[in-house]
Amino acid sequence: MRGGPLVTVEADPAGVESRLTAGRVDCPGCAGVLRPWGWARARRVHGIGGVIRPRRGRCGGCLVTHVLLPVTLLLRRAYAAEVIGAALLARAGGHGHRRIAAALGVPAATVRGWLRVAGARLEAVRVRLWQVAHRAGVDIAVPQALGGGWRDLLAALGAATAAVTGRFGLFGVLGPVTAWQVAVACSAGRLLAPGWPAAGGWRSATRVASDVAGGRSTNLAGSHPRRSGRG
Ligand SMILES: [Zn+2]
Repeated sequence: MRGGPLVTVEADPAGVESRLTAGRVDCPGCAGVLRPWGWARARRVHGIGGVIRPRRGRCGGCLVTHVLLPVTLLLRRAYAAEVIGAALLARAGGHGHRRIAAALGVPAATVRGWLRVAGARLEAVRVRLWQVAHRAGVDIAVPQALGGGWRDLLAALGAATAAVTGRFGLFGVLGPVTAWQVAVACSAGRLLAPGWPAAGGWRSATRVASDVAGGRSTNLAGSHPRRSGRG
């Protein structure tokens, strides 16, 4: 995909359009804001219904374009984040990929692919989610893993979700968010994409939520401190 990192946005296109037009979508690469800049390729996503065509924005500061990926999607995955999340949840519950595939109505090879990618990065994702939870206000550093990789991942996701929804409210910038949408937001859509979470990868992270009252943005995906260049 050309352009800069993805920017995770709410699922509601009207909300995205409104914020984009108003200059309220921050550039993940500099202190600028994104403005409307066409659309990304249309894609059919199983589990959402219909065709999704993500908005694209361009930064007036650094001139880099970014795809605005709805929080319901993962990068380069043809299934809704909720469907993929349901598969990961079932795996944590001890089910195998064939049974999960049958239950979800997804090809077994597809489910096996999700589980393989996620299974290879359980600890890294767990740590990243706990870091997000910590940053969003949970007063605990990354706890020791209990030894069940999938279950530990879900525990971290639960903490991140509680922290994010507690801080921003369920109807913050992203709209009502589910745990898997938090996972999407925390990974800037890259939960199952190559190279995430990269060591020291905070710089390419995407800010996904704004403190509406204060007009400040908070980066769920990264700790890269930002100054407010817009006043
Ligand atoms: Zn920029």
